Amino acid sequence: GPEYVRAIAPYQAGKPIAEVAREFGLDEASIVKLASNENPFGVPESSKAAMAQAAADLGRYPDANGFELKAALAARYDVPADWITLGNGSNDILEIAAHAFVQKGESVVFAQYSFAVYALATQGVGGRAIVVPAVNYGHDLQGMAAAIEADTRLVYVANPNNPTGTFIGAQEIEAFLKQVPANVVVVLDEAYNEYLAAEHQFESADWVRKYPNLIVSRTFSKAYGLAGLRVGFAIAQPEVTDLMNRIRQPFNVNSLAQAAAIAALNDKEFLKKGAENNAAGYRQMTAAFEELGLEYVPSFGNFVLVRVGDDDGAGARVNLALLKQGVIVRPVGAYGLPQWLRISIGLPQENATFIEALKKALS
Ligand code: PMP
Repeated sequence: GPEYVRAIAPYQAGKPIAEVAREFGLDEASIVKLASNENPFGVPESSKAAMAQAAADLGRYPDANGFELKAALAARYDVPADWITLGNGSNDILEIAAHAFVQKGESVVFAQYSFAVYALATQGVGGRAIVVPAVNYGHDLQGMAAAIEADTRLVYVANPNNPTGTFIGAQEIEAFLKQVPANVVVVLDEAYNEYLAAEHQFESADWVRKYPNLIVSRTFSKAYGLAGLRVGFAIAQPEVTDLMNRIRQPFNVNSLAQAAAIAALNDKEFLKKGAENNAAGYRQMTAAFEELGLEYVPSFGNFVLVRVGDDDGAGARVNLALLKQGVIVRPVGAYGLPQWLRISIGLPQENATFIEALKKALS
């Protein structure tokens, strides 16, 4: 295979519950998983009902163009339906963008400590990654604009960012978009957007109207609770959307996922409950970190990055001590953060179980 494929370090997902149970001799039901920024409330009831109906038709292919889901998204974001691309999760969107806009040898700009799939999508097409050093664990947008070269085709920006939880305000994002050359596509990855407090919310679809080179990426995996179904989407002007649609697999979003996503999109109560639980859980987690004297990065997502020791073995060591107690979190050594762990915010009891286990792991 090609050299650039051999060079890829595979994505490391959170360990599945069944695997941890077997490996550490634990009862599956006792395990707490705070590793993949999933929604602790699971799938909304409204989506379950919609899937039960859609299940009757699984002998047929899904709607290849996602007519109804796109119509629902178009109405929600006040854009025409031909501005929307559906993805098998938003990872699919990130990868489709690389396939649509980057040729082998051309460059892609993204930030140090930003989401791992940017590097994977870049390498997957033989692109050259230009990784811009983070500032305070977040994106240095000035540095990123300055890092764009003549052969740069794509820039990935995560807002909020994973795994650090940092957030960039609207003014700074717009100033950045103004600086990026018109022939460079910007993917603004807003996977955690729905967790932002009202004062940080902005209508990013408005920017898509202004910037023909902007793709806004969103997902149903986080706040909407549908991670296992794999649904994400992009909003971009028709010229960009058309190119992404040529590259997209024809049936990339399955029938159950399409039905579930439409129902979730209209389930305002579910989003509200999740955001409230997240805000309270964040306070619970960070209060414990402060009590333990642990440094953490203030987070705008449904997770928080915490430094569990001063040596480069700390993250792996504390992670193992947590696993033995049946608590799964995310080590981030592969991100170049070996002293840190990323903890997803769960239900109050799950957070408490993690905090107790962390105290034991550190003592
Ligand atoms: N972007 C960011 C910043 C993420 O953290 C994630 C999930 N880890 C994704 C995209 C992809 O999520 P999904 O494919 O489930 O939509």
